[in-house]
This record gives sequence, C-alpha cells and structure tokens, in this order.
Amino acid sequence: MHKLTKAPLVLNGLGRCLITEKHLPAVNIIRRGLVCSENRTDSSKTEVYDVIISGGGMVGSAMACSLGMDPNLAGKKILLLEAGHKKVMDRVPDTYSTRVSSISPGSATLLSGIGAWEQITRMRCKPYKRMQVWDACSDALITFDKEDLLDEMAYIVENDIVVAAITRQLDAMPENVQVKYKSKVVKYTWPMPHHAAESIPWVKVTLANGETLQAKLLIGADGPNSMVRQKLGIPTVKWNYDQSAVVAVLHLSEPTENNVAWQRFLPTGPIAMLPLSDTKSSLVWSTSHHLAEELLELDEESFVDAINSAFWSNENQSDLIETAGALFRDALSAIMPSAGSPRQLPPSVAGIGPKSRVMFPLGVGHASEYIRHRVALIGDAAHRVHPLAGQGVNLGFGDVACLTHLLSQAAFNGKDLGAIQHLLEYETERQRHNLPMMTAIDLMKRLYSTNAAPAVLLRTFGLQATNMLPTLKEQIMAYASK
Ligand SMILES: Cc1cc2nc3c(=O)[nH]c(=O)nc-3n(C[C@H](O)[C@H](O)[C@H](O)COP(=O)(O)OP(=O)(O)OC[C@H]3O[C@@H](n4cnc5c(N)ncnc54)[C@H](O)[C@@H]3O)c2cc1C
Repeated sequence: MHKLTKAPLVLNGLGRCLITEKHLPAVNIIRRGLVCSENRTDSSKTEVYDVIISGGGMVGSAMACSLGMDPNLAGKKILLLEAGHKKVMDRVPDTYSTRVSSISPGSATLLSGIGAWEQITRMRCKPYKRMQVWDACSDALITFDKEDLLDEMAYIVENDIVVAAITRQLDAMPENVQVKYKSKVVKYTWPMPHHAAESIPWVKVTLANGETLQAKLLIGADGPNSMVRQKLGIPTVKWNYDQSAVVAVLHLSEPTENNVAWQRFLPTGPIAMLPLSDTKSSLVWSTSHHLAEELLELDEESFVDAINSAFWSNENQSDLIETAGALFRDALSAIMPSAGSPRQLPPSVAGIGPKSRVMFPLGVGHASEYIRHRVALIGDAAHRVHPLAGQGVNLGFGDVACLTHLLSQAAFNGKDLGAIQHLLEYETERQRHNLPMMTAIDLMKRLYSTNAAPAVLLRTFGLQATNMLPTLKEQIMAYASK
C-alpha cells in the first residue's frame, strides 16, 4: 500500500523517463491500472477496432497512414476520427497559407515512407540549405548549413498541403484505414486493465452524433488541449508564455535564391523569416500579446516597416557588449582562423499577402505520461513547444515513426496492440528524445528574453564559440533533423 500511494508522486514528475528503467514497467502497470480504470456494466455491441486515432491533424493523419501501410498490420481495423472537415486540395491555391512548418529531413523520410512526400514536393515545398540565427543585442550570430550545400537542411511546407497529401494517401487505401470526418469525440470510457466480470475490455469512444465505437488501442492525436489526455487525468506540466506569434506571408523587395531561414532574437521574442519561393517568405514573429495586437492593427506599410526594422535595427546594441563580443570573436579567430561562418544579410520585405496576418498565443506543455492501459498520446497532445526551433510537428512525426515501429513488431509477434509493455517502450523512447529538446527550446527562449548585460554577454560568447565549432554544430543539426 505504501509503495502504491507513493508511486504517483514520483511518477508524475517531468522526467519520468529518468527513473530506473528496471522498475518502470512493473510500477507503471500497477499504477496505471489503478488510476485510469472505470468499472462499466455496459457491454454494448458496438463495432470494435484494433486502433482508433482521435484527431486528424498533421500528426494523427500521418499516424493513420503509417499504420495503414505497415505490412505487419495488414488486416487490422484502423479508424481515424477528425472533428473537422475533410481537407481536399484539387489544385494548389495561388496564394500561400500563413500556417507553415519547417519539416526536418527525418520527418520528410517518414512522409516519404507513407507516400505523401512525393505529393508534397509536387504540390508546393521550399527546401532551404542554411539557417542564420543572430542576436539583436549584440553582433553574435550562428550559421547552420550543410557543408557541401548539396543536402537540404529542412523544408518549409504549408500545413494544409501536408494534410492534403496525407489525405490523398488515406483515400487510396480505404480497406486499410477508415476515416470519419466531422466526427467529434465527446466521451471516452476507459477499460479495466484486467478483465473484471462487469467491465468492457476496450476503450469506448462516443461521438457527438451518439454513435459509439470501441478500440483495443486508442491513439490520442487531438492537439494541445487533448481531451484524451485530460479525461485520463494525465498530469501535464504546462504554462503559457506571455507571448503570441504573429504570422504572415511576406513579399520580398526583389527575387532572390531565398534558400536561407532567418531568425533574429529581439528582447521581446524571436522573429523568423522562412523561405516560401524566390519572392515570398513566411513570417513567425513571437512577441508580447500587447505588441502582437498592435502589429495586427498596423496598416500594411507600417507593419512592413516594423518587420524590416526588427531584422535590421541596432537599437538594442550597446558599446560595452559590442567591444566584449568583438574581443572574444578576435580571440576565437586567432585560435581557429578557418572556423566560423560569414554574416549574410536577410532580404528586405516590401509587402504582405492580403489578409495574411494572424496571431496565435504560445505555450509549452508536456504530459508526464504518454501512455495508459490501451491508450497512447502523440503530437501536441503529448508535448507542445515554442515555435522558435521549428520542432513541434517534427517531434510529433518522430512519435509516429516510433509508435508504428513498436506496434508493427507487436503485431508481428502476435501480441495485443493495446498491451502496456510495448506502449511503455514507446513512452520511454520518445520522452528521452522530446524532453531534452523541449528543455533546450525553453532555455533558449528564456536566455534571449532579456537585454540585461550579463545574460547578453553570456549568450554572445556562447553563440560565437558554438559558431566556431563545426562538430558541435553538426551534432545540433543532426539532433534537430531527426
Ligand atoms: C506559429 C506557429 C508556428 C509553428 N511552426 C512550426 C514549424 O516550423 N515546425 C514545426 O515542426 N512545428 C511548428 N509549429 C507547431 C505545429 O504547428 C504543431 O506541433 C502541430 O500542428 C501539431 O499537430 P497535431 O496534429 O499534433 O495537433 P493539431 O494540429 O492541433 O491537430 C489536432 C486535431 O485533432 C482534432 N480534434 C481535436 N479534438 C478532437 C475530438 N474531440 N474529436 C475528434 N477530433 C478532434 C482537431 O480538429 C485537429 O484536427 C508551429 C506552431 C505555431 C503556433
């Protein structure tokens, strides 16, 4: 009894993946059974699916497609439920959408494996080869690029195009995956982990139209406000940044190769310009709610001036930091004369796409558990990050690749897909990847949210030193590319 009452306290901590591994499966199996079970006398004869995925955003759709294409899962009944409409795209719209994502090579590999990447590249997708990040309070900068500049660093793709491409793939395999659009889940009923006489063995899902379904495994891909996560009572560490992101489509002053992603850290938050074409880029400007609202209110000309000034102005720099930074840079150059990378200048902006200015509140969240008996969380339902590192959906696609692999193995070995043993493997593997990434993003956000001299000096030296260390930069890139 003593052990069981203590377990939740220990396990609800942020870094459960750090708990001694050999104890984890046994403790979790006992604990989760106690926490999430609900006794039911209902033994309704609703349709039973092997897997139901709740939420058909980029991550949930990719999950459905990935499971549907896995040969070991052939013959399994898989259902995708999405509250919204079906996103079809007969032809690519002339105007760019404001919602875009930087897709890593690892995510591109996953999308390629499910047949969606070829369609995405045919529709619209802009690769970039270099990323320059610099500080508005000093001259410090860091450039990431592929040494030979043959490989792509990542790709900017509109979110609608990602979903439309995956939807086409799903349309092509109705026997493997069933999809129900405009199907909002309004209730979940959880099973007992061990068959009790009067309980249902599977997860029961109730839709807004009253229909009920059952799943041997429920995958929650229902976004940052996940109902699956909330109804399971999974402890979540979350807070809202006092920031919103203003996004817009930018028209550049003149055509350029436009294969660099630019990000400048202002004391109020980072501003990023991501390439869309040789004449257009996408803006993600994270700033205080107040300033974000003001930016939305500005007329187009003033808004464009504000963007150019945010990328070019030196008003936040001081002589002290300037001198210290220059001395440090000179010292590094003396030790490593060939290291470092030249400063490039971002393109200037001449206009914005019509009605393309929108703002989104930003926050961070991490579910301390990604799984329960017969349930797994993926994507933003499990973790939400600040967009400054362009990692949110990439972490979600990483979840998809990992969970598909483990479920495929389980099916091959004739195991129950909803069994907790392989779900725990999924959770451990993904938390080991996601938590350090989330922590690094949050630290970066905090370190750059000030113009206090000690912090500026610290990050100036850190950025300049890192920029001189190609091996370290390669490791950072490799980690972010997964
Ligand atoms: C400004 C901004 C810029 C970003 N830039 C990047 C970037 O460059 N790179 C990157 O990797 N990430 C980026 N992200 C993060 C990325 O957008 C998210 O990580 C990603 O959209 C999460 O996808 P998801 O499928 O997990 O969740 P969502 O997109 O939230 O999808 C959840 C889906 O579930 C459905 N749903 C919800 N509840 C129910 C229910 N009860 N029943 C049925 N369906 C339901 C919803 O309709 C929705 O379709 C950015 C985010 C922001 C805000």
